Amino acid sequence: MKKIFSGCLVIILLIAGGLVYWFWEDIAYWWGDDDYAYYELPEDCYEDEYYDYEDKLCYIDEEFDDDLLTLFFDLADEVLVSLDGDFEDFESTLENAIITYEIDGNLIVNPEEVSISDDLLAYQEDTDSHQKIWVYYANLIPPNHRTNLTQFVIFTDGQEEVMAAVEQDVNDPEKWVLAVDIVDAENPQELTYTLIHEFGHLLTLNANQVDPDEDIFEDPENDEIYEEAVEACPQYFPGEGCSLPNSYIHLFVERFWFDLFDEWDEINYVEDDDEYYAMLDEFYYAHQDQFVTDYAATNPGEDIAESWTHFVLQPKPEGDTVSEQKVLFFYEFPELVELREKIVARTFSRLRRP
Ligand SMILES: [Zn+2]
Repeated sequence: MKKIFSGCLVIILLIAGGLVYWFWEDIAYWWGDDDYAYYELPEDCYEDEYYDYEDKLCYIDEEFDDDLLTLFFDLADEVLVSLDGDFEDFESTLENAIITYEIDGNLIVNPEEVSISDDLLAYQEDTDSHQKIWVYYANLIPPNHRTNLTQFVIFTDGQEEVMAAVEQDVNDPEKWVLAVDIVDAENPQELTYTLIHEFGHLLTLNANQVDPDEDIFEDPENDEIYEEAVEACPQYFPGEGCSLPNSYIHLFVERFWFDLFDEWDEINYVEDDDEYYAMLDEFYYAHQDQFVTDYAATNPGEDIAESWTHFVLQPKPEGDTVSEQKVLFFYEFPELVELREKIVARTFSRLRRP
């Protein structure tokens, strides 16, 4: 009797095991936390894509073949349309904030409405668009590279002025805020370019790269404190603090801005806006072959963010101009080559969908 019972138990266990094995993918899917604002189902994947159960998204195989890569760069070419807009200027961004969210893992939560003029109300109420923009960012950038973001701001200053910006969180210099213009985000190509550019800032300015200066953070308008911190920094000083000796931005500036720095630095002392932009234009045209875009000539921080964006969205350069060397710079870091492959796979799988 005991034997029969044990025999039955073995069979039951075998069947249960078989069921778990058979339906493992579905079990893993439903078991996972539902901390996802947007996800795909395994059946949404194309034939050449695999399903990532952790991210709940379809990706093309990271070792994509040449045909696929060509297809990606065709798509990316549309993304690389030259943008006239500005990315930075956080002050004007916050002045034009419409709604702010806290970032909680993959989600944006606790929306706080900013009081705005009536003509912008439709943008404030457009929760669906806010979610879509955030989710698009979360789709492009791997989760472990989003952990230092705490806030997501939707703003607008009209079409093609400031498109997006990042800035340190006012509560914590090691955390960051991402702001996106809801009007400019309507174009998927521009949005893709802009978000990868903004991520370029987060990648090169985060606390592991640039040691945030507490004194400047506490008193950002104090020129004396600022100048003192710049003087005391043996490396490049991007504004938030002193960059670490092995940081991407310091190595980049050391290599590519050595001859340009003084000439560029002088422009920064020009107070009149028109004169400033005219001189910046002149600076760009005098060294055009050194920059991937005109916007890159704004400052070293924009230069590295623009070069990063071209690194992600363009084939590996074959030439040796300075602007190409700036893109090749990123290939020297295996962790960035790996990250690029991930972002390309994620971006491609999103861009190819209707
Ligand atoms: Zn920028």
